[in-house]
Amino acid sequence: MKKHNFNAGPSILPREVIEKTAEAVLDFNGSGLSVLEISHRAKDFQPVVDEAVALFKELLNIPEGYSVVFLGGGASLQFCMVPYNLLEKKAAYLNTGTWSKKAMKEAKGFGEVIEVASSADANFNYIPKDYVIPTDADYFHITSNNTIFGTEILKDIDSPRPVIADMSSDIFSRTIDVSKYGLIYGGAQKNLAPAGLAFAIVKNELLGKVSRYIPTMLNYQTHIDNGSMFNTPPVLPIYSALQTLRWLKGIGGVPEMEKRNIAKAELLYNEIDRNKLFVGTAAKEDRSRMNVCFVMNEEYKDLEPDFLKFATERGMVGIKGHRSVGGFRASIYNAMDISSVQALIDCMQEFEKLH
Ligand SMILES: *Cc1c(COP(=O)(O)O)cnc(C)c1O
Repeated sequence: MKKHNFNAGPSILPREVIEKTAEAVLDFNGSGLSVLEISHRAKDFQPVVDEAVALFKELLNIPEGYSVVFLGGGASLQFCMVPYNLLEKKAAYLNTGTWSKKAMKEAKGFGEVIEVASSADANFNYIPKDYVIPTDADYFHITSNNTIFGTEILKDIDSPRPVIADMSSDIFSRTIDVSKYGLIYGGAQKNLAPAGLAFAIVKNELLGKVSRYIPTMLNYQTHIDNGSMFNTPPVLPIYSALQTLRWLKGIGGVPEMEKRNIAKAELLYNEIDRNKLFVGTAAKEDRSRMNVCFVMNEEYKDLEPDFLKFATERGMVGIKGHRSVGGFRASIYNAMDISSVQALIDCMQEFEKLH
C-alpha cells in the first residue's frame, strides 16, 4: 500500500532526492567511494557546497550583501546564535507559539527581550496583527510558520528594525523578498534535507556590532569566512539539500512551488470546511500552507481515535496532531504531491459517509 507521509519533521522529501542520496552513499560521482567516506575538503565535495549556496541565492533571489551558510545544531542552536551575534541591548519578539517561546528564552540570556505581541490567549491559533516594533530594538524576531499550531505569516513584514525569521518549516514554499530580512534561518529537516543541518541567510552588515566575545563556532562570521567549511559540516545532509534545490529548480523554482502549495492547501482546507465531522483550528486568514491543523467537531469528538485508525489503515502517516493542539495535523510540505492530499481527503469523505 502506498504510504502518504504527512510527518511534521523530519518529513517527506522528493523521491528523487532520496534516490540520488542513496546512490551517492554507494558511489559518489563515480569515484568508487561513498560520500560518507571522503574528505569534505576533497575537490569533489567543494562544488556540492558551492552549487548549493548558488542555488539558494538563485531560487530565493538573494540580493548582494547576504551570505548563505550551512551549520550544525539545527534551528534550536540558531535561537542562541541569533542573539549571541546580534543582540547588544534589546530585541523584539513576536510570540506565535512553542518555537517563538524557545527563541525568546535563549535571547533573554543576552539582553532585554520585548514580547511585542502574543497569541497565547487563544492557544496560538492566530497571528497577532496589532503591535509596535520598538525602534531601538536590535532586531525583530518572527517564526514565519508555526509548525505546531498551523499558522503562518504569509506576507513579508515592513519593520523599522531588521527582521530575523525562523523559516524552518516554510523556506522555499513561497516567494519572499529577502531584502526585507536581516537574517533567515531554519533547520533543514522540513523542506530541504535530512536532519542534522541548519541554514542561515545573513545580511553581512548586521554582523560585528555586538561588544561581547562570540565563541568561534557560534560566530556567523567564522562560517561565512570559511564557506561553511570551518570544521566538518554535515556532509550528507548538504548533499541531499543540493538535490532538493536542483529538484526545486527543475520544477520551475519557488513561484511554481508556491502555486502548488496554494492548490494543495486550498484543497484540504476546503474539505475541512465542508466536511461536517471536522473543523480547522487556526484562524482562517492565518492558516498555514505547510501544516494543516484540524480537530473533530464537538459532537463527533469521540471519533478522533477511530478516524486516526481509519486513515492509518489507508496509508496516511503522521496525521496525529501535536499534543498542544490535539486532533490532527497534516504537514503538506513542498515534496508532497497533491495526489497525497487528495488521498487524505478521500479518507475524510469516506469516513463522513460512515457517520
Ligand atoms: C522544527 C522546528 C524547529 C526546531 O528545529 P531543530 O532543527 O530540531 O532544532 C524550530 N523552529 C521551527 C519553526 C520548527 O518547525
